[in-house]
Amino acid sequence: MKAGILCLQGAFSEHGKMLNSLGISTVELRKASDLNQQFDGLVIPGGESTVMIKLLTELDMLERLKQLILSGLPTFGTCAGLILLAKNITNDFRARLATMDIEAKRNAYGRQLGSFSAEVDFKGAGKFPAVFIRAPYIADVYGETKVLAEFDGKIVAARENNQLATAFHPELTKDTRIHEYFIDMMKNA
Ligand code: GLN
Repeated sequence: MKAGILCLQGAFSEHGKMLNSLGISTVELRKASDLNQQFDGLVIPGGESTVMIKLLTELDMLERLKQLILSGLPTFGTCAGLILLAKNITNDFRARLATMDIEAKRNAYGRQLGSFSAEVDFKGAGKFPAVFIRAPYIADVYGETKVLAEFDGKIVAARENNQLATAFHPELTKDTRIHEYFIDMMKNA
């Protein structure tokens, strides 16, 4: 099992370390030709979605990644990764992957409360320590998308078939359960 990690910007190395510690090898996706390698899952890390979209467009990776996701590649987006996956954004209109039936709101917790930790209830896993950094939330889900976690009345994790998205950063904690959940998605794909 091998996961491809989008390594253009943001918190990508933490995802790699966590997956490696769980016995999953990783490949770094930094340019279009890296997408020719074989990998069984895709991780889109947190960071700054506007920068990531700009780089993905300049590097000619956006459309290729979109096709891989639409063809069923198990995909895990955290925070900015969630924003890239969202078909709709309440407060931004830039192009992105737009593969997942969710509506996201960027920087949804305001500037004052930029970063915080909280316990969220993750379906099937119980309480999970969640780190939010200038996080979005999911304002709505539709189609096949199922809600996996809510915090403060807002959706903060969801899954639509092969796509998993969290508004928070599980790779910045010691708790590996959400990465294990994603590995199961890769194994069952
Ligand atoms: N606020 C960032 C954005 O809009 C996301 C923050 C994060 O990924 N931690 O891209």
